[in-house]
Amino acid sequence: MMDGVICFVGMGSNMDDPAGHCLKAMHLISAADGVNLLRSSSLYRTEPVGCVEQNWFINAVAEIRTELTAHKLLKVLQDIENNMGRVRTEKWGPRIIDLDILLYGQDVIRDENLVIPHPELHRRRFILIPLCEIASYVIHPAFGVSIRGLMDRLDDEGIVDKYGNVEA
Ligand code: ATP
Ligand code: CA
Ligand code: CA
Repeated sequence: MMDGVICFVGMGSNMDDPAGHCLKAMHLISAADGVNLLRSSSLYRTEPVGCVEQNWFINAVAEIRTELTAHKLLKVLQDIENNMGRVRTEKWGPRIIDLDILLYGQDVIRDENLVIPHPELHRRRFILIPLCEIASYVIHPAFGVSIRGLMDRLDDEGIVDKYGNVEA
């Protein structure tokens, strides 16, 4: 399938079996209608951000090709979150799985329930490191800077360690 838009999806979990949840999410993304999983980053063990006291996260990024609109893709990802048992509590609190659209081709979208590129992408080491692993050359369409360039400008000091490789 060569039609469709290249997108990057960020995922994170810090409950129960976070690595297992990320791998399951990758599998469910690859199985979704209208979505092809092209590549996934390694898993990373990352320090939580914000003031809520909580466990460390596992984070990863997936590169997909999709025929879905950005809004339909968001719905697919939210259905996966819900099916995996995500319960919405406080913002930036503990979660079984979080799936964010980081980039949708070179589109810039800003509406009530969807902001793309993801508004925190350029500020978060736990997103930029896995994204840089698989797509350092991609240009952030709002800033006109590559992912590598954003990494070089980053001042987030949060710890991000490689946790392991994704076993297919
Ligand atoms: P953050 O957005 O800072 O990473 P979060 O992931 O914890 O925070 P959620 O509670 O998962 O936030 O999502 C809140 C809302 O964000 C969702 O209901 C969704 O409509 C909206 N949203 C806006 N832009 C995006 C995006 N690019 N990807 C996913 N959700 C988005
Ligand atoms: Ca998020
Ligand atoms: Ca989210």
